Amino acid sequence: MAPGVPARGSYRIDRGGQLGGHRIVGVARREYIETMFRALLHRISAHLPSQCAVCHAWPTQPVCEACVVRFAQPRPRCRTCALPLAAPVDQCGDCLLAQRPLDACVAAVGYEYPWSRLLVEFKFHARPGWADSFATLLRSAPWVEPGLERANLVLPMPLSARRLRERGFNQALELARHLSPTKLRADILLRIRDTPAQTTLGRAQRLRNVHHAFAVEPRYAPLLVGARVVLVDDVMTSGASMFSAASILKEAGAGHITGMVMARADPPMTHDGAPGQ
Ligand SMILES: [Zn+2]
Ligand SMILES: [Zn+2]
Repeated sequence: MAPGVPARGSYRIDRGGQLGGHRIVGVARREYIETMFRALLHRISAHLPSQCAVCHAWPTQPVCEACVVRFAQPRPRCRTCALPLAAPVDQCGDCLLAQRPLDACVAAVGYEYPWSRLLVEFKFHARPGWADSFATLLRSAPWVEPGLERANLVLPMPLSARRLRERGFNQALELARHLSPTKLRADILLRIRDTPAQTTLGRAQRLRNVHHAFAVEPRYAPLLVGARVVLVDDVMTSGASMFSAASILKEAGAGHITGMVMARADPPMTHDGAPGQ
């Protein structure tokens, strides 16, 4: 490992509580990302054999090492919304202009082939068993492990009761369960209003759509005061749902919130392509 590259577990966290990733610049940052990626390959290849859902090669589950190499190369991302960045900066233009309720945001992959297809299958065709592999992919993305280690609470983005009945499981809960079973709490952040599928709406409508959709369970609200929270979802499209949920948690007193998503849409989708929440 080159000098200046943080070893796994020795990343810097600044005193303001931000993930320190954006402070690792230039070559060191790139090498840190490559180190995390090599760790990912090691973990993926340690999985039990089954057929790759992308190229149908044996053995792996559900995605083989060759497909991870091909499709999951880590990219520098905005530290508050996880959009990929071309320039060596740490925030995108939108986040520089807007005050985000998320203090940090990380994503493993782009919401694009093959992950878009796999995540639809995961969510709508009842493959909760894939959560383990997706969580492995996410854990190996830069700054996910430090975020989980420092967190007091890991909260999945909740589904409405109706959607949970239809689907039978909450994909965000399954991911969160594999990310941190000991810090997982699925009973603090609630979805109090069912909303039309985000798929059918434009960006402005999406923002209105999720307003007042979330609430904090009053009994557990004291747990949030000053807490470091990780908010987990499978896909982040416009970010409207996650920003709305994070705002509610901040209002309840959460001290620091990191969003963690398996896949981030780039550019944020408006009308098509992305499944609703
Ligand atoms: Zn494959
Ligand atoms: Zn951003």
